[in-house]
Amino acid sequence: MSAELSKGRLSVIATPIGNLEDITLRALRTLKESDVVYAEDTRVIAKLLARYEIKKPLQRLDAVTELKKADDIIARLEAGESVVLVSDAGTPGISDPGARLVARVCALAPTARIEAIPGPSALTAALSIAGMDAAGFSFLGFLPHKKGRQTALKKISASEIPVVLYESPHRLLKLLAELEPLKVSRVTIARELTKVHEEVISGTIVELQAHFAMHPDAVRGEFVVIIEAKRK
Ligand code: SAM
Repeated sequence: MSAELSKGRLSVIATPIGNLEDITLRALRTLKESDVVYAEDTRVIAKLLARYEIKKPLQRLDAVTELKKADDIIARLEAGESVVLVSDAGTPGISDPGARLVARVCALAPTARIEAIPGPSALTAALSIAGMDAAGFSFLGFLPHKKGRQTALKKISASEIPVVLYESPHRLLKLLAELEPLKVSRVTIARELTKVHEEVISGTIVELQAHFAMHPDAVRGEFVVIIEAKRK
């Protein structure tokens, strides 16, 4: 198919990570102009669209259906439609569905335009207020729960640059306990970013464990964890 025949556009849009005001003007315009919105959970995007009085057909595209839905999306792009992809929060493809869809569209509909509409991500929001030199860091997303976890933790403790992780509230204290014997110097935890209970706490593992023992409510919500290994 020539570039002229395929005028379809896939817009990968970053959405708020808590505060619904964190959406760009370009994201709102693109949503308004789109033919269809593919979302990880249609109920979540429905709330955002209602807030901005945007009505669009919604389709579900989650980690399980990503590749199956890719065929529908490619057909739409070849018909010239404007398709939006959003995840539940933040930037699609960052510990969220999106990467396999984009790869499939690149491979099978190379003349379709794929555009990024950048905006929030918990990763960059956390780094922006962590108060550390983030010129170099690595991002591992969620650590594996079982197989490969110990290896990943050892690699983290040997890293010369900060390592950023996503962690669930159920596993936060377990993660701190696992890090305790590995010689990490400082951990920063960015919690509930952009929400009412946003906070950043930083310290040694022992200090953080003491903090959470005194403030058990602070183990609720969403977390980004930044680990700085001991300087060699
Ligand atoms: N795509 C998203 C992004 O760009 O940040 C990340 C999606 S991932 C499934 C969800 C994880 O991101 C949460 O478990 C938490 O670790 C982190 N996260 C999302 N929103 C957050 C927030 N408001 N504050 C802190 N961490 C958050």
